[in-house]
Amino acid sequence: MSRYGQTRKSLQEENLAPKKRLGQNFLVHKSTAEAVAHCGHINKADTIIEVGVGLGALTQPIAEQAKNVIGLEIDSGLVRFHREKKDLPDNVTLLHQDILKADFDELYRLSGAPLKIMANLPYSISNPFLFKLIEHQEKVDWATVMLQKEVADRLTAKPKSKQYGIPTVLLSSCAKIKNLLLLKPNEFHPRPKIESVVVRIEFAAGNERLQFRTDYDRPLFTKIVRAAFSQRRKTLLNTLTGGGFFRSFAEGDKKLEKQLTKEAILKADISPGLRAEVLDLNQFIDLSLSFSHILAHS
Ligand code: SAM
Repeated sequence: MSRYGQTRKSLQEENLAPKKRLGQNFLVHKSTAEAVAHCGHINKADTIIEVGVGLGALTQPIAEQAKNVIGLEIDSGLVRFHREKKDLPDNVTLLHQDILKADFDELYRLSGAPLKIMANLPYSISNPFLFKLIEHQEKVDWATVMLQKEVADRLTAKPKSKQYGIPTVLLSSCAKIKNLLLLKPNEFHPRPKIESVVVRIEFAAGNERLQFRTDYDRPLFTKIVRAAFSQRRKTLLNTLTGGGFFRSFAEGDKKLEKQLTKEAILKADISPGLRAEVLDLNQFIDLSLSFSHILAHS
């Protein structure tokens, strides 16, 4: 019996049933876990952060390919189980941690290099997880992540499509994305209702060949993207006025606030009557440059 098969059997004996609320759909086939681990292009000198260790199906092939693995798992029952059974490979350090609360500075310190992350996470936290990667992009080399197919499709969507939105624009400003592997529901136990895709996300921190524009105020850009998509059917003029960028300058004068927003959009050579979904990355950056300019001179 494989190590994973043994773990599953002991779990049944310990009555540790998969928890739906933690998105516990475990990989069942050793060969699939190996194929997913290969998507990481792991080197023998790498320390890999594995998020959501679960029963350790993916941990095993990652540990074989890497120098060390730092595994994060939120479920205290699973952490206790692995610690008691000592069933994970020797080069794995298991931490009882929620990735959404994890301190990336500390993980960076433990890795000794920009983070290389492998994750098969609950789909319910994929967006907050992706936003956390973006927020800490200067500490991340790459993340190879299993995502619900619909979420993965959003990351590579083109303007004017329904899938194009906040994660698409924010991620495209700082990372290159490749869809690598499609996984059917029968690869998991219990079986989810959806298909999954393994996506590789590479950031500039670990990849010198990747070049992204940095000539703008990133926090302002992020706020503009979020405000612009807050109501997809509304025009940029309305959503960006609603974002309150010029509120303090207008001192309660709503007309003036709208006028300043309109000026800022026009200054970026964009029509205020357009919707967010038609703008490409460079246009969002241009918007943030013109907003910065007007904010600095108002
Ligand atoms: N890696 C294993 C595999 O491929 O079979 C398990 C994958 S399972 C889809 C997701 C795992 O992530 C579960 O073990 C779950 O308990 C864990 N998890 C859920 N939310 C988490 C969080 N916020 N931080 C860390 N781990 C989490």
